Amino acid sequence: MRVVMKFGGVSVKDGKNILHCANLVKRYAKDNEIVVVVSAMAGVTDALQNAAYKCCYERSLGFIKLFIAELANRHYEAVDFAVKNKSIKSKVLATIDNLIDELEKVLTGISYLGELTKRSEDYILSFGERLLAPIFSASLLSLGVDSVALTGGDAGIITDNNFGRARPLPESYQIIKNRLEPLISIKRTVPVVTGFIGATENGVITTLGRGGSDLTATLIASAIDADEVWLWKEVDGVMTTDPKIVPEAKVIPELSYQEAMELSHFGAKILHPKALEPVMAKKIPVRIKNTFNPDAKGTVIKEETQSTEDIVKAISLIERAGIINVSGAGFDFAEIMAEVFRRLAIARVHVIMVAQSSSELNLSIVVDKSDLDKAMKALSGLNNGTVRISKKDNIAIVSAVGAGMAGTPGVAGRIFSALGREGINVIMISQSCSEYNVSFAVSKEEGRRAVKVIHDEFGLGK
Ligand code: ASP
Ligand code: MG
Repeated sequence: MRVVMKFGGVSVKDGKNILHCANLVKRYAKDNEIVVVVSAMAGVTDALQNAAYKCCYERSLGFIKLFIAELANRHYEAVDFAVKNKSIKSKVLATIDNLIDELEKVLTGISYLGELTKRSEDYILSFGERLLAPIFSASLLSLGVDSVALTGGDAGIITDNNFGRARPLPESYQIIKNRLEPLISIKRTVPVVTGFIGATENGVITTLGRGGSDLTATLIASAIDADEVWLWKEVDGVMTTDPKIVPEAKVIPELSYQEAMELSHFGAKILHPKALEPVMAKKIPVRIKNTFNPDAKGTVIKEETQSTEDIVKAISLIERAGIINVSGAGFDFAEIMAEVFRRLAIARVHVIMVAQSSSELNLSIVVDKSDLDKAMKALSGLNNGTVRISKKDNIAIVSAVGAGMAGTPGVAGRIFSALGREGINVIMISQSCSEYNVSFAVSKEEGRRAVKVIHDEFGLGK
């Protein structure tokens, strides 16, 4: 089998975990062709981002020394634990030192300049994965598994220059194939590729957006026609809802691509929302597996799932959202809406869902809470006598997803009567045409309770 395996940040958070993951790879590499994709150690990307801002705005050189020392130590310790062979160890330490040196210079430069562009931010964020891949690869080598560490750019992931959310260019597929296939099928080596990062045609480092390692994995899988993608995480699979909200939540054995995409769009932390695009056309299944319980089946995301009795399969929650209301009378609805969405697109506001009420000219647009002010600002010019723009903060979005909903009448009715019975006030409703999901807004305070009520109503914990 040909498998792309991606290890998330918690799976590789320290030397002990890295060694454990490398042993897992060793176990599968005997009989399979494997490409490994790694995230940065848990928390490192966030720390790099904080450091970048701090250097730019506070310009404290003392801070850089401390930050660099801590980051270097964390990685040295990992090497110590994960790489037992002496000569392999000294080689990887030299690589780490070079990277750490480079990062220190970049941060120092940022603090002198007091300027942080999107391009330099991507460069700084890339260090998490660039430090990790050589360590993982060295750990494999020291276990006797032939391996080579590559950056996303080395592996052939060429992107546009939309820093912070770069899109891979179509020619990447062929380049990735040309570079990786000889390694896995002829050299029988295990490439360890940095997740999350790519490079422009000129070799400038870009990132694919936070959580982008999933996308790296699926992109590579599609390019090399892998049989499966395995996303190793610290949970047993995709759950019916967040077990922190509903302790009875259960693992879902199978999801369709469509269901998984709806869930990710509506806040479930399954995988990067764009990650399924590259594998869907080729029908490559994506498995979510638990690093710390590797023999558990996990969840498989694929084209068709076996029909189940479940109407609603999972419930997701976005706790930080806001609503923009566009209302008024005496204007051309389509014209105003075109203008509204044009402005939101230019301001790069992430729109979560929309609903239109038919009784009057009113459109409600749900956005990320962090985008709410930006959205209001972008639309402020439209606020005149005829068009009114207003906002509502502290909103939660609950979304019930399941392909079985399409063929079952009365699902929405059941959802809303259950909420009514519990006295939960629904602010806005949106039922997508796919009929795979019913989503609605409640106040932030009632979000978790609403999830519980629906989870119970459809017996998902049983
Ligand atoms: N390290 C990156 C992040 O934290 C990418 C990833 O983990 O997928 O967003
Ligand atoms: Mg991460």
